[in-house]
Amino acid sequence: MAQQAEEIRDRVIRQHTQDVRHYINGRFVDADSGKSFANLNPLTQERINWVSEGGQAEIDRAVAAAQEAFQQGPWGKMKVSERLSYLYKIADIIDEHIDEIAPLESYDTGLPISQTKNMVARSAQNFRFYAEMVNSRMVGEAYQVDDEFLNYTIHKPIGVAGLITPWNAPFMLETWKIAPALATGNTVVLKPAEWSPLTANRLAELIDQAGLPEGVFNVVHGWGEKAGAALVAHPDVQLISFTGETATGSEIMKNGADTLKRVSMELGGKSPIIVFDDADLDRALDACIWGIFSFNGERCTANSRLFVHEQIAERFIQALKERLPHIVVGDPMDDRTQVGPLIHQTHYENVKRYLEIAREEGAEIVSGQVPQAYKQGNFVPPTLILNLTNDQTAAQEEIFGPVLTVMTFKEEAEVIKVANDVKYGLAGYVWTQDIQRAHRVAQAVDTGMFWINSQNVRDLRIPFGGSKASGIGREGGHYAFDFYTETQVIHVALGEHRIPQFGKKASP
Ligand code: NAD
Repeated sequence: MAQQAEEIRDRVIRQHTQDVRHYINGRFVDADSGKSFANLNPLTQERINWVSEGGQAEIDRAVAAAQEAFQQGPWGKMKVSERLSYLYKIADIIDEHIDEIAPLESYDTGLPISQTKNMVARSAQNFRFYAEMVNSRMVGEAYQVDDEFLNYTIHKPIGVAGLITPWNAPFMLETWKIAPALATGNTVVLKPAEWSPLTANRLAELIDQAGLPEGVFNVVHGWGEKAGAALVAHPDVQLISFTGETATGSEIMKNGADTLKRVSMELGGKSPIIVFDDADLDRALDACIWGIFSFNGERCTANSRLFVHEQIAERFIQALKERLPHIVVGDPMDDRTQVGPLIHQTHYENVKRYLEIAREEGAEIVSGQVPQAYKQGNFVPPTLILNLTNDQTAAQEEIFGPVLTVMTFKEEAEVIKVANDVKYGLAGYVWTQDIQRAHRVAQAVDTGMFWINSQNVRDLRIPFGGSKASGIGREGGHYAFDFYTETQVIHVALGEHRIPQFGKKASP
């Protein structure tokens, strides 16, 4: 298996680790400044390649190309069926390259390959799904107003969509935004995360293969504070769909205020998993472990706060501790790996700092193992933080690593109160055999999404998004149409209704 991992890595390096350039108006181009930054391997800290550093000039060119394609190019006038045929084509091309994209993503991000394979398959599905949704669900409404009026609504594309994405599931999250933006008829400028440029670049190459008209899809790489900020402030960008940290989201809202940007915000989380004493403990344990340690814990919907009923707490915590050393930590290119290295040394240090703070605040830390061979990577072993209270830093802030805080509770009302006592509201999970209690808890916990007796399994038709500091708005399913289109209402007079006659002389 180790040899197979080496072979996959060699192939990735040979084929797809050339320096990364911007994709603007159908061409791969360097930055005007000629500047670039290094992209590092999370397993070895070695440089993978250089990434061209975009800024205002590249954003200006990309937005101008997208604007031209929207207003003058064939995209705006194209028949819907023809437009959607491009989405099906992109989906097919991604499917043909799953075996290559998944390892590339694992190599760049440290996410285990068994997990990136599923995400890439989902990415192709995003394009097919939105092509189907536009056909079947992008529908207007008609309002009959007595015998005087008919009012009806239509959905119109808005213009240039600015998409800003994070590094934690880069390829999937990019496609999750690009697909609805294009399917509804907008043109796109994508600013992918600076720590995960490889698959964003590969996506641009694959979309290029699909032969979209020039300027419909553009990618500008670079730092958030420069390239991202320039995209947000650009007057010709009508909307910003952002996924990332809460603090960045609020910065974007401030910077987008002058140009009145329409925003969709998918932000951080600190999601509770509540396990009652009547739960199926084996299944709850599997779900809890997977929910915090998959994706290296770098998952927005991770169940990072466990509340376990005091009757079963000892047993459940013991079972967690016994699993920790057996979770396979290692090379992300190896199919057996369950937890890989974190994306970047800066993030690794941030996660370590949280463990230090938890220790200083009096909590107990229990960790699994990182094999000696991987000491140079950004590895944080699967970790439990025990004996802490909900007001402590580790229980309140998003750590975004393989770290689970564990607390106990006695009563339903009490656990609902503490579960809600956090600024985030992205996801929640409850495990109990009592179906009435399950629904009560689900409805009482303030989150955008909630699962009963399940880990995070998602159907593409449902709304996705968070409440409180976890987000604004919903994407996914037909909910994305509210964001990516303008709903226009058209009022039609059916007869000779009364019109006020200002200034008209009264008849003698
Ligand atoms: P981040 O906020 O640091 O960066 C996200 C993107 O924003 C990057 O492309 C970055 O370059 C850009 N950016 C940074 N500053 C900017 C600015 N001033 N203007 C414009 N763009 C800017 O987030 P991250 O560290 O890449 O990702 C991890 C975070 O994303 C976590 O908080 C996680 O919970 C969140 N996340 C949320 C969801 C969700 O759906 N709610 C999904 C995945 C990740």
